[in-house]
Amino acid sequence: MKTAIYKDSIEKRISQLIFSLVFIIILTAYVIFTFWYLNNEKNERITLSKGVTKILSQDFLRLILIDEINVASDLTKKLQAFPKIQKVILYNNKDKKIYLYQADIPQESLNIFTQSTPLNYQGKQYGKVYFEFKIESIWEIFLDNIKILFLSLLVFLSLSYILVRLYSAYFTTPLLHLVNFLEKIEFNDHMKHYKIKNPYKDEFGKLYEEINIMLNNINTFLKEKKEAKKQLTLMQRYDGLTGFLNKRGFINSIKNILGKEKDSWSALFYIKVTNLSTINHVYSYQEGDYILKELAKKIKDAFSDSKLNAYVGSGNFILFYKKDIFQDKETLLKETKNIADALVTLLSQTIQHKEKEFTPEIYVGIDLFYAHKDPLEAMKHSHIALQTGKEKEQKIFYYDPKNELQIKEYFNIFKELNDALQNDQLELYYQLQYGTKENIIGTEALIRWNHPKFGLLTPYKFIPIAERTDLIIKIGEWVIENACKQLQLWQKNEKTKDWTISVNVSAKQFYKQSFIPHLETTIAMYKVDPHKIKLELLESLFVKNQQEVSDKMNTLKTIGFQLSLDDFGTGFSSLQYLKAFPLDQIKVDQSFVINMFKNEKDIKIIKTILYLGNLLEMNVIAEGVEEKQHYEKLKKLGCHHFQGYYLAKPQSIDYINKYILKS
Ligand code: C2E
Ligand code: MG
Ligand code: MG
Repeated sequence: MKTAIYKDSIEKRISQLIFSLVFIIILTAYVIFTFWYLNNEKNERITLSKGVTKILSQDFLRLILIDEINVASDLTKKLQAFPKIQKVILYNNKDKKIYLYQADIPQESLNIFTQSTPLNYQGKQYGKVYFEFKIESIWEIFLDNIKILFLSLLVFLSLSYILVRLYSAYFTTPLLHLVNFLEKIEFNDHMKHYKIKNPYKDEFGKLYEEINIMLNNINTFLKEKKEAKKQLTLMQRYDGLTGFLNKRGFINSIKNILGKEKDSWSALFYIKVTNLSTINHVYSYQEGDYILKELAKKIKDAFSDSKLNAYVGSGNFILFYKKDIFQDKETLLKETKNIADALVTLLSQTIQHKEKEFTPEIYVGIDLFYAHKDPLEAMKHSHIALQTGKEKEQKIFYYDPKNELQIKEYFNIFKELNDALQNDQLELYYQLQYGTKENIIGTEALIRWNHPKFGLLTPYKFIPIAERTDLIIKIGEWVIENACKQLQLWQKNEKTKDWTISVNVSAKQFYKQSFIPHLETTIAMYKVDPHKIKLELLESLFVKNQQEVSDKMNTLKTIGFQLSLDDFGTGFSSLQYLKAFPLDQIKVDQSFVINMFKNEKDIKIIKTILYLGNLLEMNVIAEGVEEKQHYEKLKKLGCHHFQGYYLAKPQSIDYINKYILKS
């Protein structure tokens, strides 16, 4: 159907073109012919007038010279022999009419052509002969030639018709062939490789060639699209880094497996690398990725009987085990414990990469379930088990519904703490630090959370939760800013101008690149003296990346900050650290002070720390001075700085202003 329309259209165009061309040619030819014909007629009359004048010159002369009447009648007879001559007038040299000839039938409507010819004899002019000729008009010529015109039109139009048929076929054949070919193509994802045979070497050939190139491009594009679709499906199901299933792929696959199962036990292992963010921050994300790939390889090689392996991001792997034969829970517990032990042992092995060493910290949460269960539920349970295990510092932990409440509370606190920063619910309390004469030497800034529901919360309730995420960085920055703001006021007051302020710094906060720049900006903003700020660090900070930590500490010292080692005696208490890091102060952990009269060894430890401090030229401050006896004994032992409930509890700034500074 479509083809017929295309055909008509081209034939019509070609016929219009040829017919109009033929028409214009015939018309032009006819006009040229008419003008040529007219011109020819005139020339012929001129020749005739000259000829007649010459032939009849004797007669004309006689008429002029002797005016014989019989000559005139003879002349008239002779002139009648020329039917084209209408009128002849003979003039002598004085322009006097000598003779007049008029044709028998005067036809006034005819076109008249006039011509005067001089009458010469033996080189002398005797007069002139005036002729009037009959001449055909354009219309007469047209009427004369109408038959020829009509006939030639007929011949030419017939010829044109044949040409139209021929030429339209010449154009339409390659086009229709192409249209037929194109109509057969099925454009879809499974499109075949189409190619049209190209017999032409002209523009049609070029068109065919372009169509083939286009079809080839479409084919390549569709192939690429198909491949991309395939890749996308893979990406939607698999994790690009480890090659394991991603969360979505895992849930779909586990649903399939569980859907087919009737009575059997399954176990879901949620494995977390808890120190992954440290590698990412301290080393780089590339190194973090390398570690994850290595761990995935280990899991794949060693736990090949696992039904599914997945990596769900942020250092979390999932392993799914299913037992076909019904087993009692006891055996299952034993088996899964063995798997979990093997997992922790294998994955906690130190990995070396580019001359660096990294030891992953692995925790495993396990959920055991019987027959059908929602995979998301199993994932949630094994994750809760993992979180609880982390809280309790147990590497392997099984899901127990009782722990779920605790985890929920943890998540609630985390969510609320995020808002607490924005809603001004955080506050700094200050615990005064004293010298040997109960004189105030400084303070320690201690954070509190005015919780809208639970009242004033101590840091133990929320700092460990904040420390698991980057929230601790924001909180840490808030503490530094507020402590500096307070120090600015104390610097201006005569009573407090020498007070120092101790600020607790978390490991994550210390490792952050922005830590020192933020400190510098803040001290500049509040115009405070960095020598009056003691940054309290924990020993756990020194375990990793000692060079980087030491460099950072030296930079802080150069700026002017003082560095204090908090809770000394409870952690590694390595003398190596005291030697390697530029510390100004050691804080004896409160547990030694509180128990100093109950356990003799605690006094010995305190003595040793005081001795060490003296030796290494670091000042020593005792925490947890709860009673007067503690204070007195510590003084006797040679301690010069004190902090504890006996001297002052952590207080709000209003309290300090009202009761300490006004007194
Ligand atoms: P810390 O730095 O060792 O702070 C001393 C803790 O001991 C304080 O508890 C203080 O109230 C308590 N304390 C002081 N004197 C005595 C005493 O005589 N007897 C007893 N039993 N306890 C005493 P707080 O304020 O609850 O802080 C607990 C911990 O929370 C701090 O230990 C510190 O590690 C952390 N923390 C507090 N504020 C911040 C902060 O702004 N940032 C960070 N990252 N951690 C903070
Ligand atoms: Mg402290
Ligand atoms: Mg402490």
